[in-house]
Amino acid sequence: MFPPRPDRMDAMAVDEIRANLAAVRARVDAACAAAGRRPDDVRLLPVSKTVAIPALRSAVAAGITTFGENKVQEARLKAEALADLPVSWSVIGHLQTNKAKYVARFASEFQALDSLKVAAALDERLMVEGRSLDVFVQVNTSGEASKYGLPPDEVERFVAELPTFSCLKVRGLMTLAVFTPEEARVRTCFRLLKALRDRLRDVAPAGVALDELSMGMSGDFEWAIAEGASVVRVGQAIFGRRPTADGTYWPGLFPATETVD
Ligand SMILES: *Cc1c(COP(=O)(O)O)cnc(C)c1O
Repeated sequence: MFPPRPDRMDAMAVDEIRANLAAVRARVDAACAAAGRRPDDVRLLPVSKTVAIPALRSAVAAGITTFGENKVQEARLKAEALADLPVSWSVIGHLQTNKAKYVARFASEFQALDSLKVAAALDERLMVEGRSLDVFVQVNTSGEASKYGLPPDEVERFVAELPTFSCLKVRGLMTLAVFTPEEARVRTCFRLLKALRDRLRDVAPAGVALDELSMGMSGDFEWAIAEGASVVRVGQAIFGRRPTADGTYWPGLFPATETVD
């Protein structure tokens, strides 16, 4: 389903990444066309977790300007290693309060906001850095035991508190669908996020924009686009199959011994 990952990641060539990227972009555009949407309504966020630094340099040469990473420590090391290049960083995974200071320093976007404690920690550190941060509120649309993301019925109350944090620029909602090949169940998650966004858009406080819907990954981004995604987060379809089990990344969400495909 996904291109294989080269044995030596550092050998991943610019041409290979460029070709994978173009193939994914073409699928995104086709999904937009099928849904009667314009291609520039959907942003493709390449997800580079577990991809080695030399391959990231190739990725930049292939035209990638923003990387999505789900672990702060890994993202931070990569941001330092690539500080000479014009790239920005989107943190898409759960954040602990004590790591907020790093995110405030190097990230331009954070897609997994699900607690006021983290919002407060980020805002405080952003103030110190004199920076602002685009944020997405993560919603648990699958009802799975996954620890991350707010239950849908808590999002309205949560969003009402966000104007307090002047350095956080709220852009929209983010979700991970249930991990299954069953299209109907996956699309139910995406539909729920869009319905929630459409409802909250009318009641959100001033300054809280809920224009963006970040949903869809390598295995399900076409369905997400059909359901209204404005950002799709795609790793394996660009960088090849991940060698590590996804249970490593989302404890409790995926069967620990299986990979995404
Ligand atoms: C890894 C990851 C993705 C991308 O998954 P792929 O299967 O590599 O496309 C998307 N969103 C989040 C939050 C991730 O951690």
